[in-house]
Amino acid sequence: MFDTMNKESFLLNKELLEKYFILNPYYIMRSDINRIILASTRFADFDNIAQDNLATFIHPIHAMMLSFFRGDKKLNENLIEISNFFNITFETAYDLVVQFVNNEKRVVVEYDNTFFYYPNKILVEYQSSFTLRKYSVLDFNLKGSFDFSTTRYNIPIDVAILLNTRCVTDCVYCYADKRIIHDCKIPFPRLVELIREAKRLGVRSFDLQGGELFLYEYWYELLHELFNAKYSLYISTKCPLSLEQILKLKELGVKEIQISLDSIFSDDLKKNLGVSESYCHKILNTIKLLNNNNFRIKLKSVVTSLIFSIEKMEQYIDFFKQYENIYIIEFTAPAHSMYKSQEEFLSFRLTSNNIEEIKELLLHKQDECHFKLYADVNVTDKSFSLPTEIKSELFPKRNMCTGNQSALLILPNGDVTLCEKSYFNKNLTIGNILENSIMDVWDSERAKNLFFIPQSSFPEDSACSKCAEFEDCRYNLGICWTDVMASYGEENWLYPSPNCPFAPQPKYITYCE
Ligand code: SF4
Ligand code: SF4
Repeated sequence: MFDTMNKESFLLNKELLEKYFILNPYYIMRSDINRIILASTRFADFDNIAQDNLATFIHPIHAMMLSFFRGDKKLNENLIEISNFFNITFETAYDLVVQFVNNEKRVVVEYDNTFFYYPNKILVEYQSSFTLRKYSVLDFNLKGSFDFSTTRYNIPIDVAILLNTRCVTDCVYCYADKRIIHDCKIPFPRLVELIREAKRLGVRSFDLQGGELFLYEYWYELLHELFNAKYSLYISTKCPLSLEQILKLKELGVKEIQISLDSIFSDDLKKNLGVSESYCHKILNTIKLLNNNNFRIKLKSVVTSLIFSIEKMEQYIDFFKQYENIYIIEFTAPAHSMYKSQEEFLSFRLTSNNIEEIKELLLHKQDECHFKLYADVNVTDKSFSLPTEIKSELFPKRNMCTGNQSALLILPNGDVTLCEKSYFNKNLTIGNILENSIMDVWDSERAKNLFFIPQSSFPEDSACSKCAEFEDCRYNLGICWTDVMASYGEENWLYPSPNCPFAPQPKYITYCE
């Protein structure tokens, strides 16, 4: 059965056999009907413990073998079970398994004429802080023929919900579509059903996207339900919180929170966020309360040209040295928003010089700080205007578009779309969950037709309509729909990706100068 998996035989390591191994807690395995998905969990601190942002297809037989590593048995006992189950010798079982034990590099395994790519550290030594795994070999005993090539998942793995489009601020650089303010129209009991369906399906994350969580009437109940379903949540807010709210978060088990705070100066906040005089004091007090209640705090500042000042940024950093629970401060340059005009974007974007100054400041200040300083300011991205030869080289290496491939976003009215950046664009809506289940929407003709969009749907003035690489491009890595619309306008959503070598020059500027 496993003959083609390994070529080399290993000497038995007696010491290893006495140790307890577990499938790395930062990886999950999930059936995708005709293959198994091995994926990393979300929001973990991945330094050297697992491969971040992983989702790969693996053969069910490998998943069955890995399912034995629940952390409750010695390697020796696991190997006896594996050899009995698969009817192979102990030595063969040892050879098969040992390549995954604390593997520092990825492992490539050929089986049934297909190559499978395993990330680092598949099996790690059990530690008492780990929860024992509950996998059963039967979870992965799939019947029928397997499919390791179709990119679109049979069952989504990441679900997110946009609860509303309300905010306590009115940011100049706002990325959201606020042409109409939406409140959550999904009845709370229906939301609970969706969370439970996602759990049943093995969806790994159920994220909350902005607007503002704390302006949603049932925020506490929603968090309670999500925590009950064991979803790890990343909470990000611009809302000043009361001590009572902070204590409720603590009671729910929230340990970490992101506060988006662009400046510690009231005048800057008025310019960047359109807030009143009192906002600055209230949000600084929130950070103090969170710190005193032992929340791990990430601060994020969007630095626009309206508030850019290296001296003030230095004061921002110095001010927060007093709070021991702040673990990271991130400075970001404003990105292009589809919902701001070209003139608006040009009025607040940073210059390349500004960005260099920010990077220098952070380098210079890092040693003085107990928190990590991080600059997410690499938005001088002019890749859309690069010469064709360079685009030809880079385009095949682009990131995959996961919207409608493995992920979906539920909107406040129950509509389902690709990702948080495409919002209410009707062309990218794939269904509605008020009456339909997540799987009804995912399996719908509309969703599949959007992923496997026929070339004949493309207008003549789009290079995609005649492209010889169409299927390979669109049905595998796909393209970023948001980039297309940001560069050519929403009406031209069927244009090529601006990164594509066959794409015309973008109509709009989307980068810092
Ligand atoms: S974006 Fe369009 S033109 Fe470019 S490779 Fe893909 S299908 Fe072809
Ligand atoms: S449309 Fe763009 S932003 Fe959205 S998931 Fe695809 S690649 Fe990501």
